[in-house]
Amino acid sequence: MRVKLCNGVTHAAPTWVPLDAEHWHFYRTGRRAGRPLSRCRACRAWEATIAALKNPDHGLVETAEVLQWIEELISRCDTLVGVEQAHGIPVSTLWPLLHGHRLTMQKRTAARIMRALVIQRANDRRNHATSNGYRSGLITVAVRDKKMMDEYAT
Ligand SMILES: [Zn+2]
Repeated sequence: MRVKLCNGVTHAAPTWVPLDAEHWHFYRTGRRAGRPLSRCRACRAWEATIAALKNPDHGLVETAEVLQWIEELISRCDTLVGVEQAHGIPVSTLWPLLHGHRLTMQKRTAARIMRALVIQRANDRRNHATSNGYRSGLITVAVRDKKMMDEYAT
């Protein structure tokens, strides 16, 4: 399997990501046609969400833009209650977003979630992960990364 290093914002450290259409966008035209973009899809999605939040057109953003970051935040804090305790974002705010009852959300709320996730990622990096669920996820990623690098080297 081919891999490519991504040093975008969604990774704790530069990470080998499988070089395929599931993980990367590829240039369609021009001199670089067929080559991958410099950052993986997850990192570009993050950048797109930040760009949507900065768009001054209106005060709302689509929940779908933010959903994967809500899910990551919950998985890092183990539960919705964990998010509320760590970051003060109420369960009553996240629950309807998570379950599709609100298709748009205030940018203010989205920005709060993104900030909480940046803080949580930094904490997890410092503490080598506080939650068991996230720690086992990290181990999975580490094993996968090593495997990918081994395959890349041979
Ligand atoms: Zn990336």
